[in-house]
Amino acid sequence: MTNTVQTRMLILGSGPAGLSAAIYGARAGLKPIVVQGLQPGGQLTITTDVENYPGFRDVVQGPWLMQEMQAQAEHVGTQMIYDTVVSVDLSRRPFRLIGDGGTVYEAETLVIATGAQAKWLGVPGEQELGGKGVSACATCDGFFYRGKKVAVIGGGNTAVEEALYLTNHSDNVILIHRRDSLRAEKILQERLFANPKINVLWNKGVERFVGGGQPHGLVGIDLKDTVTGETSHLAVDGGFVAIGHAPATELFKGHLPLDRDGYIEVTPGTPFTSVPGVFACGDVMDKVYRQAVTAAGTGCMAALDVERFLAEADFEAIAAE
Ligand code: NDP
Repeated sequence: MTNTVQTRMLILGSGPAGLSAAIYGARAGLKPIVVQGLQPGGQLTITTDVENYPGFRDVVQGPWLMQEMQAQAEHVGTQMIYDTVVSVDLSRRPFRLIGDGGTVYEAETLVIATGAQAKWLGVPGEQELGGKGVSACATCDGFFYRGKKVAVIGGGNTAVEEALYLTNHSDNVILIHRRDSLRAEKILQERLFANPKINVLWNKGVERFVGGGQPHGLVGIDLKDTVTGETSHLAVDGGFVAIGHAPATELFKGHLPLDRDGYIEVTPGTPFTSVPGVFACGDVMDKVYRQAVTAAGTGCMAALDVERFLAEADFEAIAAE
């Protein structure tokens, strides 16, 4: 027999965006349901130290922070469901979604908070040294490399912004790019080239992240020239992979407009998608800020707009009777 779950507010994703939407939705009496997705807790569960989430004087651990957010969401009345949605029908309300095990979700409103994943190079040493010198977020981890030598890999806006950001902490930042020109916006390139703390290594591909030392961590990067094939070694303390993010939007292709990078399109400055009653928040719609606190902020915005949307829908239903 098919299990059908009906709700006024369905939230997909359990990172800071989804759980903040849940906390606000629950406190507004909407009894939200969160479908947690493949990585319950989101990207913060694979980081360690978090020092930039407001409210904590000392460093907190990413997985702990997410457990606390979930506990808070449940405490105020959110139902968490461990499932992954595999298909959606947004053509009429209630929206109809189907979970991995066949559960049918009928939702009057939908909040998409499925997040994004940093892309990785897939070279030896990268995974093993993750959190021990290799990172995909300079804003999160740059602080830990104060006065050290760091490298950023990539040639887009993210890589250039991360390199510039890292100069707040380090006087020796190296941008490693596989070609001889950047794809980042001109203004960012101008800032990069004008910054004496940054050097660019052109036409270099990363072959391997090299670990060593005590405690074990990144000590250098093996490189290969993409034109000459020549190999070299660069000694660094930190390596920041900035080759793009992949938003988790596969499910919505053909159902919602996505931008050319695959992010859900929203009305700028709001969580409104083009489908009334469907909202998007967090990294699935934000390729610029991508912080836990900005995700939480847009999650809150989504919940407030869900509340308004439902109040208007209720009013119209009553008026029509
Ligand atoms: P992009 O896709 O724009 O750039 C990725 C970069 O990584 C490219 O330079 C690419 O090289 C390089 N790269 C990709 N795969 C590999 C690989 N396997 N090995 C080595 N290098 C690789 O991603 P971004 O994250 O920079 O930006 C994504 C989107 O977000 C863009 O639309 C961007 O404009 C936007 N953005 C906007 C910001 C803002 O407005 N402030 C800030 C950050 C992002 P190659 O050039 O050779 O393809």
